[in-house]
Amino acid sequence: MPVENSRLSGFFKLSVNDRRKLVQNLSGITNEHLEALSSNGELSDEAADRMIENVIGTMSLPVGVATNFVIDDKHYLIPFCLEESSVVAAASNMAKRCLKNGGFRTQNDAPLMIGQVQILECPNIEMAMKNIHEAKDEIISLCNSLPSTMIKLGGGCKRLETRIIDTMSGQMLILHIIVDCRDAMGANAVNTMAELIAPEIERLTGGRVHLKILSNLAAHRLARVEAIFTPEELSNDGTTENGAEIIRGILEAHHFAIADPFRATTHNKGVMNAISSVAVACGQDWRAIEAGCHSWASFSKSHYTSMTEWELDNDGNLVGKIETPMAVGIVGGASRVHPTAKANLAILGVDSANELAGIICSAGLAQNLGALRALATSGIQAGHMKLHSRNMAVSAGAIGEEIEKVASRLQAHSGPKTQTAVKKILESLRNE
Ligand code: NAD
Repeated sequence: MPVENSRLSGFFKLSVNDRRKLVQNLSGITNEHLEALSSNGELSDEAADRMIENVIGTMSLPVGVATNFVIDDKHYLIPFCLEESSVVAAASNMAKRCLKNGGFRTQNDAPLMIGQVQILECPNIEMAMKNIHEAKDEIISLCNSLPSTMIKLGGGCKRLETRIIDTMSGQMLILHIIVDCRDAMGANAVNTMAELIAPEIERLTGGRVHLKILSNLAAHRLARVEAIFTPEELSNDGTTENGAEIIRGILEAHHFAIADPFRATTHNKGVMNAISSVAVACGQDWRAIEAGCHSWASFSKSHYTSMTEWELDNDGNLVGKIETPMAVGIVGGASRVHPTAKANLAILGVDSANELAGIICSAGLAQNLGALRALATSGIQAGHMKLHSRNMAVSAGAIGEEIEKVASRLQAHSGPKTQTAVKKILESLRNE
């Protein structure tokens, strides 16, 4: 069930166990979900062995929830699964800064995926294309003849598109089947349809069908999110002047990313810090999502550019937008198999794949602002080093109470915060 309020003051101060219990109380997740989150070996050898080949074990990563998210008037606690410090804190912090104007608003396409059928050696490529279009109703019916819950629920193949492309192997006719995948990511369903129609496509075109596979450039399945941040919300001190100055800095940083692929790559890495981690937490195919997002960032543009848009509105507010392919599912894949993914989806309380797509993109937009705001003000390292100093302390050999002591001395250390410095701090602590 959705949480009533995602604004959890002092959440970060609780123990891991107390946070887990609070999230259970707020989201109503079951004890089984709680168990999946609490044990480190949440995935049994048997379950892991069913997922991939040659299994020798599993590997754990932390799951943290981002707070303060209000999306389409609903509160969410958003699970992130990743190893990098500061990400969850930054997303929660930025989500709080757009509450005055109601948080995040989403507007997503229907869950339409593209299946590609590659047709070679057509005796007459124009005629082959015409024949496909004339037989479109039969091809669509053939796709939808599969016994499938997805189709029963109103999904299935909806239309066809064709393109002729020039390649190093000569001209090719490319057929796209456009499939409504409802609440599934849809790769298996789309691939099955593409394979099913191949003999009929060969008959209609006189050509040879080669590849039959989903495209991860889910250009018909775009998620769109927008949020408005007032200068006061973005300021350090609550004043409009300071907020306006920070917004100017954010826009300058953003314009750098639009113009320069070197910067855009890092800018988008920040967006993916959230998109990939929420996707991992929810058992999604994050490689598929990443491929789609990066491809869209250069699709129909002169060069690879920013995944997000930031601009000023007439009232001096900062308006952030993201539009990106978002092929996610709440049925199928690992989302229904991995115990922790199931628990994380239960914390979100999502009812559809489209809702999950909007949540993931809202997290991405917030994350991007977190990085832009930090870069435009104190720089990224201050926040990063705060948590990273604990990791440095551990890798230098600190144990138990030493970890916090070494981490806080490292933060106060005026020189470069290197591994040599942290080792010296640990040494002097032990000599006291
Ligand atoms: P899936 O094969 O489990 O299919 C989803 C199933 O759920 C279907 O049988 C469908 O009929 C059923 N279903 C029940 N309720 C539904 C609902 N409300 N909406 C839609 N379907 C419903 O999963 P999938 O989504 O077809 O495939 C996803 C998997 O495919 C992922 O694990 C992904 O990693 C993998 N994959 C990806 C690629 C790629 O991205 N290029 C290629 C191959 C496989």
